[in-house]
Amino acid sequence: MSNFGFPSPQFNEDMQPFFEGTAQRKFKMMRCRQCGFWNWPYGGCRNHDNEAYLANMEWSDASGRGKVHSFTIARVPFNDAFPVPYVYAIVELDEGPIIPTNIVGCAPEDVRIDMPVTVVFEDAPNGLVLPRFKPV
Ligand SMILES: [Zn+2]
Repeated sequence: MSNFGFPSPQFNEDMQPFFEGTAQRKFKMMRCRQCGFWNWPYGGCRNHDNEAYLANMEWSDASGRGKVHSFTIARVPFNDAFPVPYVYAIVELDEGPIIPTNIVGCAPEDVRIDMPVTVVFEDAPNGLVLPRFKPV
């Protein structure tokens, strides 16, 4: 098995507020001040023109709840940082956006499409706090 260390998410300063939020165990997404549209990751409102530099958007506390949109169970290890089996999933958040993540807190075989989940925060070896999701 190869071991090339914990792969840190690549992000720029636009996503910094998100990881500042997870460090405080808060799940934040961008919300439009004009119409309430939610977006994740960093991005503008899809309902109308955005102000310069997305001034109409702000990082806001979100529910951290959603449902499993799609998933796969990884059984072949590619990195010691990720012991198998684990569940890689796309979660559809209650506010609308989708997020790639892992489902934790249950056996991989118990994960189902549309299963309600809620965010949990895990301290990663690289110092970041990463959001994962567990069954409600
Ligand atoms: Zn809007």
